[in-house]
Amino acid sequence: MNVSKYGKENPILILGGGMAGLIAGTYAQQQGKKTIIIEKDSKTGGSMRMSGGSIWCFKNHSDYKKINSKGNTILGEKLIDNFLPSIEWLISLGAPIENTIAALYRETDRYCFQMSPNSDYFAEFITKKFLEFGGEIILNAYIDQIESDSNHHIKSVKIIDNYQTTSINCSALILATGGFHNDANLKKKNFGKWSDKLIVRGNLQSSGDGLKLASSIGAKQSQSMDSFYGHLMPAPPAEIPRDRFSEFTMYHSEQCILINDSGNRFTDESICDESNAEATIKQNNATSYMIFDETIYQKYGIKKSISGQPDSDPFKKSIEIQALTAKEDSLEKLLSNMSNWGVNKETALKSIISYNDYIVNKTKSSQGIPREKNLNPILTPPYYAIALTTGITITLGGLEINENAQVLNTKNLPIKNLYAAGGDTGGIYNHSYGGGLCLGLVYGIIAAASAIKNNNDI
Ligand SMILES: Cc1cc2nc3c(=O)[nH]c(=O)nc-3n(C[C@H](O)[C@H](O)[C@H](O)COP(=O)(O)OP(=O)(O)OC[C@H]3O[C@@H](n4cnc5c(N)ncnc54)[C@H](O)[C@@H]3O)c2cc1C
Repeated sequence: MNVSKYGKENPILILGGGMAGLIAGTYAQQQGKKTIIIEKDSKTGGSMRMSGGSIWCFKNHSDYKKINSKGNTILGEKLIDNFLPSIEWLISLGAPIENTIAALYRETDRYCFQMSPNSDYFAEFITKKFLEFGGEIILNAYIDQIESDSNHHIKSVKIIDNYQTTSINCSALILATGGFHNDANLKKKNFGKWSDKLIVRGNLQSSGDGLKLASSIGAKQSQSMDSFYGHLMPAPPAEIPRDRFSEFTMYHSEQCILINDSGNRFTDESICDESNAEATIKQNNATSYMIFDETIYQKYGIKKSISGQPDSDPFKKSIEIQALTAKEDSLEKLLSNMSNWGVNKETALKSIISYNDYIVNKTKSSQGIPREKNLNPILTPPYYAIALTTGITITLGGLEINENAQVLNTKNLPIKNLYAAGGDTGGIYNHSYGGGLCLGLVYGIIAAASAIKNNNDI
């Protein structure tokens, strides 16, 4: 049965009410286009609510390209070009964001607008704006099937709401389900056999539904399906409370060395913690062991607080949640300790000696593993070690879109009336990163504007 309460004005439907969905909906509804957000969870917000709330973006094309040399340049440059206008639009709505000066990201300057006082408040604000403009939200619901006409134009969707199936006609469908960081099969296919060990940092509802629905009608997947944004965190038996992930994130892994259980280094740790997280998921049992000395600990392991709060010390905190940690006054003792965790101590000692030799005497890098920056030797006792695994925040591969946020088919042609934004899209970042909220903001607006422009009610 088709829903008729919207009359001839077929609405824009948006699947997912997180950053991208709420932005797209608010923009479309402000332009006077009837818009309905279908949200799987019992409230809107998705990972946006869990985020640090920093809407950040590179300042220019060359910085985007420097960090994302393998990213989709057309989409990446459009992201940069549309960022400040999108922020201006948010400000015109009275959105609670503050222009702040952010630390460099991998030595690259960036704009940063902070959700204030926090992302929860922003989520409530933007949800309220959408409703005030006349939008409608269906919670605890999802789309089961997309229905197209004989010209392959999307015509309607089947919604499962309260165990009931309803068919709603639409003029456009915008997919904004946040990617596939919580789908076991997609993760196994794209991230390998240890992917079931990933700690899910993002919301638990994003299980690739946008990708699956669009793929079922011939959508193309982007490059970088095996790429995700994440961080290193204490490995089991540590249990990290879901609302305290940031306290246990090992941002300083880029200053330390990492070995696997064979005792070998396996990546240039100095690139960034995100890349160490991606490299760790490929190691046995998705585990790596971070080793550092007192100098590194004092300089990078303890984050000085700027607001009178206690200093943040993820190593010390990890002991409280039963992480595998060791602190010893000699490397031999440290490694003996680690051999109880299954680490090969002889190879590990050789790796550390060879690494130190490389840093101090500029000899050839051990095991052919380079070390570009952060040339910190491991020489000053006491020595520290902690077992780590990978936390996944968002997936970076997804649906291939064009610069109008239209979902492309395998012949690179737009699927009529189908758009995607935020974590459901892919390829803008490729084994690199540049902000997740900015993707939802910029491409949420682009998707809504394109859907209105191409509005051809069926
Ligand atoms: C701990 C943490 C900190 C972060 N900090 C930052 C930060 O400071 N800055 C930054 O730029 N990024 C940050 N991010 C990333 C950022 O939050 C995400 O990139 C962003 O929220 C993605 O927006 P989205 O709309 O694509 O997905 P989401 O915001 O996750 O929204 C997706 C929505 O879709 C819903 N959904 C899923 N499946 C369905 C379905 N089948 N039907 C209906 N609804 C569905 C979900 O319930 C969810 O509400 C952080 C993320 C985490 C987890």
